[in-house]
Amino acid sequence: MSAEIRLFPCLSDNFGYLIHDPATKATASIDAPEAAPVIKALEHEGWTLTDILITHHHGDHVGGVAELKQKYGCRVVAPHDKTTKIGNVDLRVAQGDVLKIGSLLARVLETPGHTLDHVSYVFDNEKTLFAADTLFSIGCGRVFEGTYPMMWDSLLKLRALPDDFDLYCGHEYTASNIKFALTVEPDNAALKARAEEVTRLRAANQPTIPAKLGDEKKANVFLRADEPSVAANLRMKGASADKVFGELRERKNKS
Ligand SMILES: [Zn+2]
Repeated sequence: MSAEIRLFPCLSDNFGYLIHDPATKATASIDAPEAAPVIKALEHEGWTLTDILITHHHGDHVGGVAELKQKYGCRVVAPHDKTTKIGNVDLRVAQGDVLKIGSLLARVLETPGHTLDHVSYVFDNEKTLFAADTLFSIGCGRVFEGTYPMMWDSLLKLRALPDDFDLYCGHEYTASNIKFALTVEPDNAALKARAEEVTRLRAANQPTIPAKLGDEKKANVFLRADEPSVAANLRMKGASADKVFGELRERKNKS
């Protein structure tokens, strides 16, 4: 039996995620923006929370952790971070660590930039990536704590995953990301196709997640900072990828 994933809205535009192992009944919440929607989703399925996998210390990703831990006595997994901004942690993880969620395996990738502690969780057997606020569909997180080269490096780590992996990210930002991406790549056919799909999904009040990583590689301008055509569109011919990435991020910040 393969893993089951549930996605539901939290707070104003966060996603909550549960991944469930039918073989062992183990269930992990990826982050916990707030407790109530996570509890509701668990009760709807008849699942019990065994683990919370935290990606980074921001309040809109950890706000529900204390309440969920108290209710379920679940294991709380968080990034290795010397500042220990995250409380209630049972296990700290770093690059390359592999966690067991029942019989499911989650591999840890350190993806700093948005915050210094940010990690992403990769379920290789399920072809699933939880990238939180590092990689969004057609976008990426703001670089609050790291540097542009650091964030670009993190995006390259995620881009190296196979095309048929599903991307689950931290926020429903896809429509506004597309609006910006089209200002840089108005002629990108993959981007235009994604724009049509997202317009259709949002009109039907459907989430735009998950997205296929292969489609993101073609349509997400923030994964394409090393494409000569992107540099040319920004009048930055010959500039290094991390410089082009920084320019993209600053333009998006102002958009
Ligand atoms: Zn964040």
